[in-house]
Amino acid sequence: MKFQLLPSTFEENGKASPRQHLACFIVDDCVSIDAGSLAMSTTSQQKKQIRDVILTHAHLDHIAGLPLFIDDLFATIRRPIQVFATDEIIEILERDIFNWSIYPRFSELENDNGKVMNYRSFAPGEEFNVQHLQVKAVKVNHKVPCFGLIVSDGKTKFALTSDTAEMDDFWQVLNEEENLSAVLVECAFPNELEDLAHISYHLTPKTLKKELEKIKKPDCLIYVVNIKPMYRDAIVKELAELGLENLQILEVGQIYEW
Ligand SMILES: [Zn+2]
Repeated sequence: MKFQLLPSTFEENGKASPRQHLACFIVDDCVSIDAGSLAMSTTSQQKKQIRDVILTHAHLDHIAGLPLFIDDLFATIRRPIQVFATDEIIEILERDIFNWSIYPRFSELENDNGKVMNYRSFAPGEEFNVQHLQVKAVKVNHKVPCFGLIVSDGKTKFALTSDTAEMDDFWQVLNEEENLSAVLVECAFPNELEDLAHISYHLTPKTLKKELEKIKKPDCLIYVVNIKPMYRDAIVKELAELGLENLQILEVGQIYEW
């Protein structure tokens, strides 16, 4: 399985920045998990192939690229963009984003080939298929409705917490899974901003360490994502100080094969 966190921004020399401002993960060049930089950082091949987008929640850094992606491709879309989300998240998108004030309601629009966008509602805990992938969504502990995902292609499996504070349900479901290769965990703030992390429902290296103790998968690789760009250096240092061998930072732009 091929996995990539798309770049969000660019350095002054035009190269992709290692800092993550937006969340957009591409699986096998054809399925997107969240859509933060979907319009901005996909290759032309990915733009042709990606027609399925799974959303963990509706925060802007996870959806910013979705309206622009559909807009950019509007005339060329033959198979509608399918947006997989819970009913609650779909309601938020229709009310607050695709409402004709912020952006067009693409779910009502057609091009010469037919519809350009469909919603596909999923229920937490129930497995659903997206292309060749089997996906399970489990509610995590964020300020808004938000779902961690467990994704399998039949051979390889990974889990992604999305944005969350301390939680138990997701880890319990994850511990029942077999053949789990990688777990992607968020860590948004440094330890000194523990209060801010608490009120915004995110983790710090200190609280992350406690969460990792709940994972009963000793062979599983742990990747940290969603590091707030402004605090990246401090967070990376504090994560290194945890001294955990199987823990690494998921590098922006890099292609991982699991
Ligand atoms: Zn969020």
